[in-house]
Amino acid sequence: MIKKPQPIDSNLHEKDFQLGITKFGLNSDVKFCSKCIISNQRPNSEIEYRHTAGTKKKTIYFDENGVCDACNVAARKKSKIDWEKREQELIQLCKKFKSNKKGEYDCIVPGSGGKDSFYTSHILKYKYGMNPLTVTWSPNMYTDWGRKNMDNWVNSGFDNILFTPDRKVQRLLTRLSVENLFHPFQAFQFGQKSLAPRLASKLNIKLIFYGENQAEYGNSSDDLSSPLMSNRFFSLETINENEIFLGGVSVSELKSKYGLNDNDFNNYLPLKTDDVKKKNIEVHFLSHYLKWHPQANYYYAVKHGNFITSPERMPGTYTKFASIDDKMEDFNYYTLGIKYGIGWTSYVASWEIRDGDLTREEGIALAKKYDLEFPSRFSQDLYNYISLPSNEYPKASKNFEEPIVDHEYFMNLHDKFRSPHIWKKEKGKWELRHKIWETDAKRNVSKKSDIYTWEGNKKNNT
Ligand SMILES: [Zn+2]
Repeated sequence: MIKKPQPIDSNLHEKDFQLGITKFGLNSDVKFCSKCIISNQRPNSEIEYRHTAGTKKKTIYFDENGVCDACNVAARKKSKIDWEKREQELIQLCKKFKSNKKGEYDCIVPGSGGKDSFYTSHILKYKYGMNPLTVTWSPNMYTDWGRKNMDNWVNSGFDNILFTPDRKVQRLLTRLSVENLFHPFQAFQFGQKSLAPRLASKLNIKLIFYGENQAEYGNSSDDLSSPLMSNRFFSLETINENEIFLGGVSVSELKSKYGLNDNDFNNYLPLKTDDVKKKNIEVHFLSHYLKWHPQANYYYAVKHGNFITSPERMPGTYTKFASIDDKMEDFNYYTLGIKYGIGWTSYVASWEIRDGDLTREEGIALAKKYDLEFPSRFSQDLYNYISLPSNEYPKASKNFEEPIVDHEYFMNLHDKFRSPHIWKKEKGKWELRHKIWETDAKRNVSKKSDIYTWEGNKKNNT
């Protein structure tokens, strides 16, 4: 039985802090990168099928100069990579996979019609002569402007398969991932990662192109040496129902306690590694071959696809053009902020600093202003989405002391995920223990850095 969350005892929380207890296996020594504004608490991408409440997070690596891996990768991109050679590799790759049968697709580009998938598919088709099939694992709750961008994508010359998963299943899995992992985006991410390989296997298409390599945002920089996405994100050697977790609950338990059956899991389970190998499916990142610059992708999508921005600033950050398709995005970033103390602004500003679109000082000022703002605009949509009324979920709802989520429920739940080394409660208010705008004031950091002068691929693309 999953208990209704109660307000947490802030004295116990403080005691845990004194004892040096942290959540998610995080390092208690919080540091900020000296080039961007990300902290060393930033988790690497997770193999979600193994993710449970007890998972210890691997976090971004900082070198001996206090520079994060993402900044080092960005610097290497600027100085050490021969981009002309990389483009030639892309041309060769396209040549190898180009279908010689008329009317056949030669690659799949997964995406939701955001700026990055737009750029990826458009440049592959119109500059490199590929015939891509675009595929979309539907957002949980499309925003109006996200839906329009999806149409704009198709209108600009692409076939698209929009796959909308069974919402009843997705809502239940999302409730569990919020409850157990405070991760409202997990169920979506299963599909986002595995839909393209699954369809590639069924349709006999051998090449998949994602846009960016996650290493650019601070996964292990070893991942960056390969143009390929590791199979471990979407496939497993063996499918063992006791060892695969969705929403932090094993598949066998989901069957026995939550009323789900094999059909319900079809699109959430990983593929078998052997099957992926037998079909010779390769999953590549376009960012390996072409300089990746999110802001330039945005301009590109406006110019070639009538891409529209969100009508308002996204809560928790200052931009209007990134991660705008799904009403759930606000909460995705907000929950990361609660767990790791890094809000949406810190993420966006850090990549903009690396790309030379923003100075570090501007990033810090923006983080002070917007980071960790509560995303109230779609909060009721989220609560409705993860509520499990007994008439809709006769079996699953019995596992919850309170199947319906309201604001009080959510707020008590989210306090459970605050790690003592990141948060303190003062005068009834939660405060970050480490704020970059306070920490940084004590330090004399050079404003000049070579990565600030890099202008990205703006000129090439637009
Ligand atoms: Zn950095």
